[in-house]
This record gives sequence, C-alpha cells and structure tokens, in this order.
Amino acid sequence: MPAVSLPPTPGHARHYAIVPAAGHGSRFGSETPKQYLPLLGRPLLHHTLAVLCACPAIDRVFVVLAPDDDWWGGFDWSALGSKLETVRQGGATRAASVQAGLAAAATAAADGDWVLVHDAARPCLSAPALNQLLQTLADDPVGGLLAVPVADTLKRSDQRDRVAGTVPRDGLWQAQTPQMFRYGLLRDALQRFPDVTDEAGAMEAAGHVPRLVRGELANLKVTYPADLALAERLLATAPRG
Ligand code: C5P
Repeated sequence: MPAVSLPPTPGHARHYAIVPAAGHGSRFGSETPKQYLPLLGRPLLHHTLAVLCACPAIDRVFVVLAPDDDWWGGFDWSALGSKLETVRQGGATRAASVQAGLAAAATAAADGDWVLVHDAARPCLSAPALNQLLQTLADDPVGGLLAVPVADTLKRSDQRDRVAGTVPRDGLWQAQTPQMFRYGLLRDALQRFPDVTDEAGAMEAAGHVPRLVRGELANLKVTYPADLALAERLLATAPRG
C-alpha cells in the first residue's frame, strides 16, 4: 500500500539543492576526479553548481565532498555567491552522500520543503529545464524527476555481446537529475532504503509514485571521456553563465 504523503507546507515551500560530489568517477579512468576536470576553463562542478546557485527559487546549495577531498580548495568558487555551502561528509555510496547533504540541511529545512538532488557530473542542466521541474511539481505532494523517454530500440546482451533479446521501449524513460522531493519523505525513504542508485528508487521502494517531468537529452551525465567533449560543445553553444 502506498505510504501516506505529507501535505505541502502551507504557504511557500522552500527549495534546497544537494549536489553529491564525493564520487571518484572510476569509469572515467582519470587521475583527476571527474567533477574537477576542466570544462571551458572551469572545473566541471562549477558549471553544475552555477545553474543551481543562479536559480532564484533555490535558497541554498549544499555540495557534498569526500572527507579527504583536497581538490576543492584549489579553485575559486566565489562567483557562485553566498548560497553555496560545503559538506565534507560524503559517504561510500551516492545515497550516503545525499544523506549527509540532507543532514546538513536539517537545521533549515522543514518536512514539506523541497530538496533537489543533482549529480555533480551533469554540468549541462539548462535553466528552462530546471524551471520546468520546479513549476510542474510545485503542488505535488511527493515530487519527481527530470527524465527523457527512451528513443532507441533496446537490446539485451548475452555474455558474448550477442543480442539475447529486444526489450520493448514503450513506457521506458531515462532518469536524470535533479530529482526533487519533499524533504521529510526523501529523508525517511533513504533511511529505509539506502541501497538505491537514485533518490526516486528510494521513494518508489517506500511506496511513493514520483512524477516524470520531461527533460532534455543535453542534460547528460559525464561518465566517459567522450562525454566531456560533448558537454563542452553543448555548453559552448548554449552558455549558461
Ligand atoms: O558515479 P556516478 O556518476 O553514478 O555518480 C553520480 C553522482 O553521485 C556524482 O555526482 C558523484 O560524485 C556522486 N557520488 C557521491 N558519493 C559517492 C558516489 C557518487 O557523492 N560515494
């Protein structure tokens, strides 16, 4: 049975962003953690944070770093303004890092406030896509996420990279971030279901039904070296400040 959802906070719910940036990006295969790789003259993470810090609806942006991160201090983040707060308590998993961000937000956030969790490795989020998410979910009791419908035909492989079957793509979406949920619901869901790969997964496990908000393919997650070149081209043609 679905868990009972909290009603929205009366009046205006506040918005807090959490950016888990404590990963080591092992799939990228670089000495430099991918969030600090240079992208148009700034660390990749700077682009990611800039769109959140520039959003008038977002009150504070918590960036969660690994406790042993010695990269952050080597860059100038002052252009991002006073909304930004560092949390040096990243965990062994993305979910643990998000939980550290939620704990840091606890002094400010009420249960009915919104929290937007956004991957450090998605530097190409556009302001229109972010606003679409905020507007679509404004009166939602639970929240949801940016996602794009799967356009390609999907193949399942066997162990020799031969096609073992075709997976119907009807109703399939690729989950992106930000994922935006009511603070109290997300905190409780992640406490109960920490073994998830995204926040929506924890919410689903807790019986909630997150809403899918159509995003943009350009909001890609930089995972492999070729993605960095693509992100650079996307940002160069659509500067986001
Ligand atoms: O590795 P992947 O690209 O899936 O990571 C998604 C996001 O989660 C990245 O922003 C990464 O820095 C973050 N993360 C984290 N703590 C971890 C693992 C990943 O903050 N232990």
